Amino acid sequence: QNARAEGNGLSIFNPSAYAQWRANRDLVADLQRAVGAGEFSMHYQPIVDLNTGGIIAAEALLRWTRPDGTPVSPAQFIPLAEQSGEITIIGDWVLDQVCADLAGLWSAHRVPVTVNVSAHQLRDAGFADRVLNRLRSADLPGQSLIVEITETVLITTVTDAANTIAQLQQLRDHGVRIAIDDFGTGYSSLAYLRELPVDILKMDGSFTSHQIEDGSPREIAFVRTIVALGRSLNLVTLAEAVETPGQAERLRRIGCHLAQGYHFARPAPIGTLHELLTAERPGTLETAA
Ligand code: C2E
Ligand code: MG
Ligand code: MG
Ligand code: MG
Repeated sequence: QNARAEGNGLSIFNPSAYAQWRANRDLVADLQRAVGAGEFSMHYQPIVDLNTGGIIAAEALLRWTRPDGTPVSPAQFIPLAEQSGEITIIGDWVLDQVCADLAGLWSAHRVPVTVNVSAHQLRDAGFADRVLNRLRSADLPGQSLIVEITETVLITTVTDAANTIAQLQQLRDHGVRIAIDDFGTGYSSLAYLRELPVDILKMDGSFTSHQIEDGSPREIAFVRTIVALGRSLNLVTLAEAVETPGQAERLRRIGCHLAQGYHFARPAPIGTLHELLTAERPGTLETAA
């Protein structure tokens, strides 16, 4: 069987593209099994206030470990889950797990969790209702959750855009805050910032380069501009992938509010986050801005 006969839309047979297509097809089949088989788990990465060093939130990151112990990166399987439609089931699993973990976290520490949501999930007109129902059943206020919009696909039609805005607005009306993820790359463009109701601007990790630490004027200009844009729109600014003390200090001096990255803590199971929070006295998202 060649790729054309299997109907994947390739017009010219290309052995390496075909191998890739087969690998992806197998991965999708495994994905469909993985939810029911309990192969998913959530890790949490602390988000800190650059001025106080205190943990003020945590990002929930999905982990998939195959039965033989091999991890699969979300950067690899999330795009496939979006294409195959599996993201709806996975996204619901993520919401359930995050709400379960959040119940204890919120009552003990009053620390909100940010959850990644793809544009595909927001297309579903019932999305905001499902999120709000889960919060309600777990007795959690909207303030305990932050939704990070991850752009892997462009919102193409006016209907899509209007629906996305309506979903986000409904969440916001109930106190859920909205972050725009990976800002400055891909589709997370200025137009998104203009159109969508947003509270937090999350600058893409590629701007947190080692050159900002070394003082490269060109690299620093980008960071300054993004932070200034965020601040002038009254948004909380957050830098991701901060790996060194030099990067953290540079970002703080530029006026970026929050950061996350290996320099502070790696993503880890919920128990680790509890331990870190128990060891310190946290500030809040409100006092950081
Ligand atoms: P993201 O939302 O931009 O998440 C940040 C990524 O940076 C995470 O990768 C995190 O582990 C990684 N990271 C954290 N600190 C550092 C650092 O200091 N240096 C570097 N180089 N990287 C750091 P991860 O966990 O592999 O996730 C990749 C992407 O997959 C996420 O990017 C997000 O777009 C998507 N994703 C993860 N979990 C979910 C989920 O539950 N739902 C959806 N829809 N997407 C998810
Ligand atoms: Mg994110
Ligand atoms: Mg990001
Ligand atoms: Mg990123």
